[in-house]
Amino acid sequence: MPRRPDPDDPGQGTPEPRPRCPVCRTPVAPGGKAFPFCCPRCKLIDLGRWLGGDYRIELPADATDREIPPGAPPDPPPGFEDTSS
Ligand SMILES: [Zn+2]
Repeated sequence: MPRRPDPDDPGQGTPEPRPRCPVCRTPVAPGGKAFPFCCPRCKLIDLGRWLGGDYRIELPADATDREIPPGAPPDPPPGFEDTSS
């Protein structure tokens, strides 16, 4: 019996969360020229934010209430096991 590809089978391929451009939220392919940004333009925008003081590299001692949440991607939905066999 030939195997026929089933695009609706969630058990075969687990969709990985794509990294997104921190500036414009466009999905970015890993390994890109401007990764993790979608384009050099967004890279410059982010750099400008750094230089503008939006971000802080060094934290003052009293900055405990300024926690920046890590840009963790959302967890993928739970996969379904194919138990029909
Ligand atoms: Zn971008």
